[in-house]
Amino acid sequence: MKETFDPATRIQDMLQFDEYGGVNPAITDSSTFTFLDPETMTETFLGHTEGCFLYSRHWNPSNKCLADALAAMENTESAWVTASGMSAITCSILQICSTGDHIITSVTTYGGTFAFLKNYLPKFQIDVSFVDITDLDSVVKEIRPNTKLIYTESITNPLLQVSDISSLSSIARKHGIILMVDNTFSPMMISPARLGADIVVYSMTKFINGKNDCVAGAICGTEEFINILSNVNDGTAMLLGPVLDPLRSSAILKNLHTLHVRMKQHSSNAMLVATELRKLGLTVRYPGLPDHPQHDLLNSMFNKEYGYGGMVALEMNSSGLANEFMRMLQMEGVGYLAVSLGYFKTLFSNSGKSTSSEVPQDLQRKMGLNEGLVRFSIGLDNHIERSVAKMKECLEKLHVI
Ligand code: PLP
Repeated sequence: MKETFDPATRIQDMLQFDEYGGVNPAITDSSTFTFLDPETMTETFLGHTEGCFLYSRHWNPSNKCLADALAAMENTESAWVTASGMSAITCSILQICSTGDHIITSVTTYGGTFAFLKNYLPKFQIDVSFVDITDLDSVVKEIRPNTKLIYTESITNPLLQVSDISSLSSIARKHGIILMVDNTFSPMMISPARLGADIVVYSMTKFINGKNDCVAGAICGTEEFINILSNVNDGTAMLLGPVLDPLRSSAILKNLHTLHVRMKQHSSNAMLVATELRKLGLTVRYPGLPDHPQHDLLNSMFNKEYGYGGMVALEMNSSGLANEFMRMLQMEGVGYLAVSLGYFKTLFSNSGKSTSSEVPQDLQRKMGLNEGLVRFSIGLDNHIERSVAKMKECLEKLHVI
């Protein structure tokens, strides 16, 4: 039987045996590891020993189990887990780029990423061009001899634009540039490495963990890149040291095994919310709606059974109305007024005033991020129709519908 690529099946097919036969790999609660002889310690330090562990900032067995599962999901040779999504992003960028290099990035990215690219990298004289990533010509126009990296999010935060990863990969390859994709909004749904991305990064804080009980990140790529990142002499992940605690990585690994089920429910709930809000005549951004500008593109590149994702953006036209709406939604129990996403309950926030507040207001307006935009991370509600009915009641009380 010819099987199509399925990230969930790739995880399911992995057998990770614990030393004592536990179905969950044991948590290795050690920062350092013993050796029977000093020569093996030296060899391990030099990276010459397969399966030996030295020190947990370098590798830890629990972190390795999670990293292996992520590499399986992404179909990359290797992966590395970090203490936050931001450290996954910053370590990867700092590993690739040196003083004098140039980066092309989507102007719409998570606010922290934007701030790093805009405000932090200049101190290393790394130049960054911010483009509309859906306009491939604008990407090509910005390429310079010193361009090292094209950076984007599969589905951008918070405007929910879809990046054409295959075309960006062709552009990058043609010019010897690395393509790095943040797939935080769309695990399982989109497999960026299969579409040609060289490096895939995640904030595992979001859908992958799904519990909002920790902050974590991941980098998926070639074995060569992960080895470079973790090199004891000049690897950014090793030297900047954003280590994920093994206790956390063990918990995330267990949650990863239910990610496919959760993504389907997030997506089908979000589709219903977006469709019903649209029926009310509201301005809704959702990649699953046929009139979303990249709906057809997403249809051509996603792993269909996981749907169009759990993120919906609703335009309330003013921050005052947006605030009032969110206050009422929380009172009605629709979910929480909170940043972050991928949680089992619905979360909502006003992006321009929170997770994208690092982006200057004039640039927010230029990119189409209005002050009334409410970003929803739709939860796993068993009866999403009830939640939609409550949303409608709030909108009626506000005379929006
Ligand atoms: N990437 C995206 C798309 C995000 O939304 C976030 C956080 O909101 C991050 C990266 C940063 O991740 P973390 O908060 O885990 O550092």
